[in-house]
Amino acid sequence: MRPFDYLRAQDTAAAIAEAGKPETKFLAGGITLLDLMKLNVERPARVVDITRLSGLDTIEVSADVIRIGALAKMSKVADHAGVREAAPVLSESLWRAASAQLRNMASIGGNLMQRTRCTYFRDPGAYSNCNKRNPGSGCAAIEGINRNHAVLGTSDACIAIYPGDFAVSLVAFDADVLVRGTVARRIPIDEFYLLPGQTPHLEHPLSPGEMIVGIEIPRSAALKRSHYLKVRDRASYEFAAASAAVGIEMEADGRTIRDVRIAVGGVATKPWRLRAVEASLKGKTLDESTLRAAAAAAVEGAKSSGHNAFKIALVPKVVARALMTVGDIS
Ligand SMILES: Cc1cc2nc3c(=O)[nH]c(=O)nc-3n(C[C@H](O)[C@H](O)[C@H](O)COP(=O)(O)OP(=O)(O)OC[C@H]3O[C@@H](n4cnc5c(N)ncnc54)[C@H](O)[C@@H]3O)c2cc1C
Ligand code: SF4
Repeated sequence: MRPFDYLRAQDTAAAIAEAGKPETKFLAGGITLLDLMKLNVERPARVVDITRLSGLDTIEVSADVIRIGALAKMSKVADHAGVREAAPVLSESLWRAASAQLRNMASIGGNLMQRTRCTYFRDPGAYSNCNKRNPGSGCAAIEGINRNHAVLGTSDACIAIYPGDFAVSLVAFDADVLVRGTVARRIPIDEFYLLPGQTPHLEHPLSPGEMIVGIEIPRSAALKRSHYLKVRDRASYEFAAASAAVGIEMEADGRTIRDVRIAVGGVATKPWRLRAVEASLKGKTLDESTLRAAAAAAVEGAKSSGHNAFKIALVPKVVARALMTVGDIS
């Protein structure tokens, strides 16, 4: 690890001003940042500790929206009674992430900003060819071991997965990311994560110094009847091989789908909303064959790089299973 300067910000305005300076990073729980600094992937000259800023760790559930501060801990949000009641998918996606110790340390803002787990990205000593870390150098994963790489949203420059869980549920339910810099703005979560294209080193639209101060999730009937299914190589402390965040709202007849939300994780370069599958289900009768037929389209446009071909078969099954669970079909 290289030497770096450490500053503790006294308030949000000071933190933003300091983080606007070159080669500076915010430090929240430190789980991603310090990990990547030790691996020599992140090399900031300065870190600005934001962990003690006041007012950024609140969780509010009002009639219309859920507001979560960027410094709220993953475990606190997962365990919040109002969140569990109004939005099971948010709580479930957090409980199924990382480990209890990590969830107690990690912040919601830091969770959204976590970086890919691509082995080649995380090992600069062995692999210089990574377009995300070193633009223009190539991609070691495309011809390498790519079992854990993306099949959706890829480019010929990068096939790295967005690995997180919570953002998948946020994408399914149209959350906004609340950002403060020289001006305050809100970014729809689906626009917060960028496709790799030819610029995989650009992962989000934040400018230097811009800080996530919170997220806002509109409440809905589908959010109340929601679920997060995570399929992985072992039952805990593992990233998703494939996951689905789903929610459903029924018509008064109890059989016809009025609204449905679906996003998938662990298979794409960003949290992946399945709008076409949602559209194909609205107005249809809720039954297993309808769900399975619609879920088959979840991998439209998917591209295997070799070892990850199994994900193309897995995703429709995960989507259908998650919808059957939320639709009370055994
Ligand atoms: C072994 C292991 C297993 C894991 N498993 C999972 C998993 O299954 N699912 C999952 O979703 N995650 C998983 N994670 C990732 C983990 O959830 C993240 O590392 C954690 O949430 C990061 O939060 P943090 O507060 O520690 O962020 P930090 O490490 O402090 O920050 C991360 C990045 O975000 C930036 N940042 C932090 N806060 C802000 C802010 N408010 N505004 C702007 N930028 C900010 C920092 O500058 C840094 O670049 C795992 C991590 C490990 C180490
Ligand atoms: S998949 Fe992306 S992150 Fe991984 S080696 Fe290729 S360019 Fe780098």
